[in-house]
Amino acid sequence: MKNFALIGAGICGLRCAELLEKGGLTVQLFDKARGVGGRLATRRHERWRFDHGSPSLHGDDDKWLTCISRYPKWTSGDNSMNTHLPENGVNQMAKDHASQLNVQLNCLIRSIERSNEGWHLLDEDGNPYGPFETLIITAPCPQTQMLIETLETALLQQLKDVRMTPAWVMMLVAAQPLIATHQLCPNHSLIRRISAEHSKPGRALDPGEHSYVLETTSEWSKQHEEDSPAAVEASILSALMRITTTAVNPMHCAVHRWRYAHTEHPLGRPYLIDPQLKLAVTGDWCLGDGASSAYRSGELLANALLDPEPDDVRETQHFR
Ligand SMILES: Cc1cc2nc3c(=O)[nH]c(=O)nc-3n(C[C@H](O)[C@H](O)[C@H](O)COP(=O)(O)OP(=O)(O)OC[C@H]3O[C@@H](n4cnc5c(N)ncnc54)[C@H](O)[C@@H]3O)c2cc1C
Repeated sequence: MKNFALIGAGICGLRCAELLEKGGLTVQLFDKARGVGGRLATRRHERWRFDHGSPSLHGDDDKWLTCISRYPKWTSGDNSMNTHLPENGVNQMAKDHASQLNVQLNCLIRSIERSNEGWHLLDEDGNPYGPFETLIITAPCPQTQMLIETLETALLQQLKDVRMTPAWVMMLVAAQPLIATHQLCPNHSLIRRISAEHSKPGRALDPGEHSYVLETTSEWSKQHEEDSPAAVEASILSALMRITTTAVNPMHCAVHRWRYAHTEHPLGRPYLIDPQLKLAVTGDWCLGDGASSAYRSGELLANALLDPEPDDVRETQHFR
């Protein structure tokens, strides 16, 4: 039996599964969300589209660049950084990766257990899955820690220094333009970045509509993580008015909290493997540099499982 279970259909899990499948292995993915992509997220409201996780795709790793450069360019702001974006939104990249994969959505894995037959998974409704020979987890680090906390594995100790930070984001449509560039990173204690969604490829709006995603700083988000959405909305709007020095009359306004948005302290290596348990963990938090790190870590883990280097053989031999 060479079947893999993989928890988390973000870009890390999708890249890993894609390569394992190409290598002839069978992978069943599970994700608690309604769609794939995790923090490569695009939300629709009426005729507006908001990339409310990562606002665009960028980075300089060769394989990642090859992958994102098939999408149109978007020059994003103050530093004129060239980024790329599918016209349907950043989430489309995840959908493109998932099209040939077997993904079970709306499936929150609550517990995992290893028996002599392999891995058994249980979702929040008590539905069982498995057995699987090998389990890969690509959830954000704190969620990975929760899943493996009852296991006897050295991985728990190795994960203890990883730290991730929250972020609140606001999706806003205004009748007037709020910034002069496509993206602005003001030097402000509350607002980290304002992205003009209407400036993205294929997303032009009527002249009287201007759509934005505003992201709060990690420091402010940590302090206000448990605030109500109404309180957060009021705080962001008030900060925005101070930055733009104009009154903002939103045509649409909504906020979203990401509990684990960014990596403050990464693991420092692309993945961890427990060969006895046939368990591997990875995600953007391993290398710590956003979506390109997630993609790279997923790829390096798949390569290690498919074709271990001589030095890796001892660590990974039980997977083959
Ligand atoms: C507001 C914001 C701004 C960002 N800005 C940038 C940026 O400018 N540049 C950049 O490169 N990156 C940015 N990022 C980070 C980037 O989005 C992430 O690094 C990347 O998408 C992470 O991919 P991943 O696959 O590692 O994790 P995720 O995308 O988080 O995927 C993990 C998946 O696991 C699933 N999951 C978790 N637990 C379970 C469970 N128990 N059962 C089932 N499924 C589970 C989740 O639903 C999720 O889909 C930003 C993120 C946010 C939120």
